[in-house]
Amino acid sequence: MRTPIRYLSVLLALILAFQPALATEVEDEERALERQQEEENPAPNKASPVPVQTVDEDSLPTEEPPHPLPLLNRVVDPGTFATLHWTPDQSFGSIATPVPVLVAHGTKPGPQLCLTAAIHGDELNGIEMVRRLMYKLEPDELAGTVIGVPIVNLDGFRSGSRYLSDRRDLNRYFPGNKNGSAASRVAHSLYSNIVSHCDYLVDLHTGSQKRVNLPQLRADLDKPEVVEFAKHFGGMTVLHSPGVTGMLRDAAVKDGIVAVTMEAGGPNRLETQAVNYGVQALETLLENLQMQKASRFWSAPQPVFFESEWIRADQGGILLAEVKLNDKVKKGQILGTVTDPISNTGSAIIAPYNGRVLGMAVNQVIHAGFAAFRIGEEKSTEEVEAQAEKASKEKEKAQQPSGDTGNAQDRPANEGETAKANAETPEPAPKGKKESDPSE
Ligand SMILES: [Zn+2]
Repeated sequence: MRTPIRYLSVLLALILAFQPALATEVEDEERALERQQEEENPAPNKASPVPVQTVDEDSLPTEEPPHPLPLLNRVVDPGTFATLHWTPDQSFGSIATPVPVLVAHGTKPGPQLCLTAAIHGDELNGIEMVRRLMYKLEPDELAGTVIGVPIVNLDGFRSGSRYLSDRRDLNRYFPGNKNGSAASRVAHSLYSNIVSHCDYLVDLHTGSQKRVNLPQLRADLDKPEVVEFAKHFGGMTVLHSPGVTGMLRDAAVKDGIVAVTMEAGGPNRLETQAVNYGVQALETLLENLQMQKASRFWSAPQPVFFESEWIRADQGGILLAEVKLNDKVKKGQILGTVTDPISNTGSAIIAPYNGRVLGMAVNQVIHAGFAAFRIGEEKSTEEVEAQAEKASKEKEKAQQPSGDTGNAQDRPANEGETAKANAETPEPAPKGKKESDPSE
């Protein structure tokens, strides 16, 4: 495991072996969110009665002395690095493939930080980020514990696919159910065996098949503790994104684990710039959580917060972009054109407001309604913090008086039956993308 060259060559061989199949419209996080919002037409801030911890630096769990860490049927001694294995028991035992889990357990007390990558098996940048970060850690010097799962969806990784082997999107099934569908059982196994041990979680992703993302965090900025956490990643771009039921970060946050998603680049490829950027952000996080000194200086110490939306094409045809990722755009500017290749009629996709290109589709053939450019509008840190305070106060108020339990989103504080039932209902994702859901 400690020979990076061999690791990389295996990875490259796998990537070459599994070129992206015919591009299909797959559901990315933001589209799942939009769809959920369209379906539910909800109040902007859903009440979540689960108490969440704050990221006040003074209250980091520092009181307990370092002790051996029991995890996945093993015990990891303080000051050591271990490779453990998690077996998501979805297959019959004799062919089940254990998923490697890297653990650096420090000699000093501190938080438990978890990193998960390749929940979508074709998203490779995060795998490389976890490797680079984990093998840079010095457990002797480390305060707390870092648990890294470089390839959560090993089946998808092997076949170059975003999905589990039953074509389900694992990231719509958390926290899962041990008696549920195959995907729900895998989710439950990961959640209960690993994620439930974390104080903090960073779930690493890339854009879905036909889109690329500027390196960015997705975070529910209506939660003050998540805003605080997002500020620990140095100058990384942070997008407000409340999350969708079934996503790992959403399940974690509802459960009191402070979690964000990191998106960098596109799937099916390794992009060194995106990987470098992500690793630097994670090192900055470790420094800011007082777990380890960062080896690199982050020249932009403050994050830049954005509200954003996808701008869609009004007609189908061939999409050709006229902007690049991270470009600043002005209201009225042409972002790209869509042309019918037969009739030669076309139209432009126009920026509806001033902003920055945070995500975009690569040039391709599209249908009307296709989300082509994600344009972000910058918010000041003060605005974001004020909004988070307001949202959390409103939430508290909404929770206090009535005993109304009619809303299926109201979850019992301790992971009761309702939550499990929710995770198991024919969850949001597959509805929007029939090709991936052999509905149960
Ligand atoms: Zn993903």
